[in-house]
Amino acid sequence: MPEGHTIHRAARDHADVLQGKTIAAISPQGRFAAQAEQINGTVLTSTGAIGKHLFYHFSNGLTVHIHLGLGGYFVLQTQPADPPRDVVRLRMEGPTHVLDIIGPNTCELIPTHDVETLRLRYGPDLLADPPDPDRAIARIRRSRAPIAKLLMDQKVMSGIGNIYRAEILWLRRIDPMTQGCDLTEATLRALWDEMRELLKLGVELNAIVTNGERPKPGEPITERTNIFASDTCPECAGGIEKSTLAGRTLYHCPVCQTQST
Ligand SMILES: [Zn+2]
Repeated sequence: MPEGHTIHRAARDHADVLQGKTIAAISPQGRFAAQAEQINGTVLTSTGAIGKHLFYHFSNGLTVHIHLGLGGYFVLQTQPADPPRDVVRLRMEGPTHVLDIIGPNTCELIPTHDVETLRLRYGPDLLADPPDPDRAIARIRRSRAPIAKLLMDQKVMSGIGNIYRAEILWLRRIDPMTQGCDLTEATLRALWDEMRELLKLGVELNAIVTNGERPKPGEPITERTNIFASDTCPECAGGIEKSTLAGRTLYHCPVCQTQST
């Protein structure tokens, strides 16, 4: 599943090539045909992201809301583009680029002013400007759920997926099973700040990099993590423990991650 940085990056990349352009919209698959008709021939005025939700705002006051879910993806092509495959839910065609949205979990057309309602339904986005950590921190400190579960809960905060969850808890040396209510305000603020920086870096590089390495010029940009999907802890050389929490594999180092306040 894409993590928050992927969606923010997509919002930026898609705006770079389609914003301000008149869009021809179709639904080759047919499931979004009536909605595509309503935005066809209007101008894409801007894009936006809240956590893993992506929004395309059009000049007629309508917005396409996309959540890719586990299997959805984007294909961006330059013109002339290949004819759309019949799995394409929505094709948005501008003068220079064509964007296909395939297999999304959510693809709906909503009034643009409803986006604010959606924003309040989710926890604050780690990448939002200005940052709004207070609502997330207060919610964590009221909960008896383990922090590793709370970080993945998009109602607490938006943007962290399974990889970032493992990495940020390891970087902060926090025991993933610590109850939210046991963590101090200072611990959570430091976690928020570091997580925000990691996500911003993820948007810049278009890859998850949490181990401090930077790709050298010309080097392919790939994921660089500390403990995710790894057997050995880079700090203590001990074994990484794997367990399941909230339906996803949780990785942690039982030696290094002992912080519980
Ligand atoms: Zn360790």
